[in-house]
Amino acid sequence: MNELSLDEKVRAWVRPEVLGMSAYHVQDSDGLIKLDAMENPYSIPDGLIDDWLACLRECSLNRYPDPSASTLRTAVRRCNFIPDSAEILFGNGSDELIQIILMTVASPQAVILAPSPSFVMYRQIANSLGLRFVAVDLEPDGFGLDLQAMLSAIERHRPAVVFLAYPNNPTGNLFDRTEIEAVLEAAPGLVVLDEAYAPFANASFMAQLPHHDNLLVMRTVSKLGLAGLRLGFLAGPPAWIEQFDKIRLPYNINILTQVSAEFAIDHYSIFEDQTRMICTERERIFTELSALPTLRVFPTRANFILFKLENRESNDVFAALKNAGVLIKNMGSAGGSLANCLRVTVGTVEENNAFVDELRKVLSSQGQ
Ligand SMILES: *Cc1c(COP(=O)(O)O)cnc(C)c1O
Repeated sequence: MNELSLDEKVRAWVRPEVLGMSAYHVQDSDGLIKLDAMENPYSIPDGLIDDWLACLRECSLNRYPDPSASTLRTAVRRCNFIPDSAEILFGNGSDELIQIILMTVASPQAVILAPSPSFVMYRQIANSLGLRFVAVDLEPDGFGLDLQAMLSAIERHRPAVVFLAYPNNPTGNLFDRTEIEAVLEAAPGLVVLDEAYAPFANASFMAQLPHHDNLLVMRTVSKLGLAGLRLGFLAGPPAWIEQFDKIRLPYNINILTQVSAEFAIDHYSIFEDQTRMICTERERIFTELSALPTLRVFPTRANFILFKLENRESNDVFAALKNAGVLIKNMGSAGGSLANCLRVTVGTVEENNAFVDELRKVLSSQGQ
């Protein structure tokens, strides 16, 4: 006998923090020019597809993958200039690494701290684990770190982990290096530098790893051009990595990903060329947007551009662009310093032109 309805059973057994969450929402992009998710618009060149498939043909899908991904490990170390003293841990995307880090430190009193606005998964994953999340507002003008506020929050909350995205998402800027150093000095626990946009930034804390025993540097191949593979890695002191490795599920990096990523690293210049094209386009689109009246465009070191509408609602402009076939990201619903902000990913020349043309049309029409 069970008197409870299905809905009541779900409410009775699912943790309250999970009931209170909403799942990460991915926009439907069917038939649209997709400039919403910081993907690289280019794929592996046609001429190389057969070579890639030949590598995949060698994979034994009946066997578990190499649990330590050792061939890939050597290649990743080499192409990311990871200091010899650091160890690395792979994740199924850097999202999984964030989850592994937080599961490792998840005690009832643990606090996770990050600036706001920043990457939403820090908060989402902290919430999913029932951890307390403290957000410290960035400076409203220009989105730099508010160092005094960061330092006093660190002193008050003694966070287990501080996340700093470098460059930051969704704002695109790099925080000041000496301010990050000050956070590293003050933080009692870990500081994770999330370098998802490193390929576009020409700035990194990787070389600082030997100088801080609480620094972790996290990267991903997603923004580089391999978002479909789901591969991220974390570099840091072996004593920390050893603990995270106990939480990692044994075969988290599948064999198709391992072999494809090795192939990509063997042909790394392709991605460097694509990255260079994206950065050139970023500068061009930045200039074009900056020339439009009633827009404030924020400087960026990533593969996306954040801009603010001065006399229009971001909801309206987002919807009008989507109607015209261009999908970007509406950040305005977050409110606060992101009110009426939109974020556009840098695409191909044609995609970027279509976006700028449509935006120009939308802004010159009267709007409601
Ligand atoms: C996109 C993004 C990630 C997620 O990367 P995956 O490896 O695709 O999970 C992590 N951090 C930041 C700041 C991002 O923008």
